[in-house]
Amino acid sequence: MINRERLVSEFLELVKIDSVSGFERNIADILKVKLEKMGLQVYEDAAGKKINTQAGNLIARLPANGGSGAPLLLCAHMDTVEPGRGVKPVVVEGIIKSSGDTVLGADDKAGIAIIFEALRVIKESGVKHGGLEVVLTVFEEGGLLGAANIEKDRIASKIGFILDSDGPPGAIVTQAPTQDRISITVKGKSAHAGICPEKGINAIEVAARAIAGMKLGRIDGETTANIGIISGGKATNIVPDIVFIQGETRSLDGDRVKKQTGEIIGKAREAAAQYGAQVDIKVENLYREFYIDKNERVVKIAVEAAHSINLAPRLESTGGGSDANMFNEKGISTVVLGIAMQSVHTTEEFISIEDLVKSSSYMVEIVKAAQKY
Ligand SMILES: [Zn+2]
Repeated sequence: MINRERLVSEFLELVKIDSVSGFERNIADILKVKLEKMGLQVYEDAAGKKINTQAGNLIARLPANGGSGAPLLLCAHMDTVEPGRGVKPVVVEGIIKSSGDTVLGADDKAGIAIIFEALRVIKESGVKHGGLEVVLTVFEEGGLLGAANIEKDRIASKIGFILDSDGPPGAIVTQAPTQDRISITVKGKSAHAGICPEKGINAIEVAARAIAGMKLGRIDGETTANIGIISGGKATNIVPDIVFIQGETRSLDGDRVKKQTGEIIGKAREAAAQYGAQVDIKVENLYREFYIDKNERVVKIAVEAAHSINLAPRLESTGGGSDANMFNEKGISTVVLGIAMQSVHTTEEFISIEDLVKSSSYMVEIVKAAQKY
């Protein structure tokens, strides 16, 4: 059923098109033409203008062809991380990888290729389906900005599948954390370090005291905290007046993130007070957590479809955010499917042809299974 050659050649074509986050114009135009050729109506939304990037999200629609199922959202993102320019894919014994100096970009062009192959097979074999909406987002990496700014009114689906997890086909992510980003500017007072250090307030010392008091790393089974950036100071003979610290907290439980973020802020304020320094603190909630029960439609469809092709369905939680956080927050019940991309965000990234084929069959089965719901 799946046309292996067509699938692989399209995937290779897509990874060769540069599309690092913010530079999606070229690939968006190519994907638009491909979707239209498959008979979908394509709309590019205004997200690109809002986030000041080259392209918006593509929202494409294939009307029902007599099927009765609920409309389904099928989603992947078109951007990749760096180093992602000039990808030269190599195929060795059924494995596709990069030539070694860039990522492959299977994250998430494998997702796009799988959706496209499934759409073609569905058309060719006359599979009855309800309305299908293919959403290809921009700027997923580093902020979920495309999905955050998507024109939600253009989407009719209440349930969605995102092809963007590194688990094997059959892995269904039904739970993901919320994340706070915490930015702290410590303001001390500069002075000559040799002549009058007592007139200064050493912002590096304040920051060090603050961080030393913070509980970081794995806080509990569902919660993590990290300070990832620290910068400040100009010269050894100046008592430094400014230090910038940035970190994050994540949890599957929204209340625990609030508590953890609160503790980090508390330690910063405490240290500042102790030294007579000031702190400016900014907290941004980047995305909210979600949890989808196994009895919800979207999970039932994914599980039933997996069984129909002898894939072992496995419900999972993840430590990372994805477009699914945004869609769930906007009221579209969305799971993330494993497509077996490996070592993503490294130059060792690879994917097997076998898994591309398997995921494409799975996608077709999901559309079929949705007919009962
Ligand atoms: Zn991804």
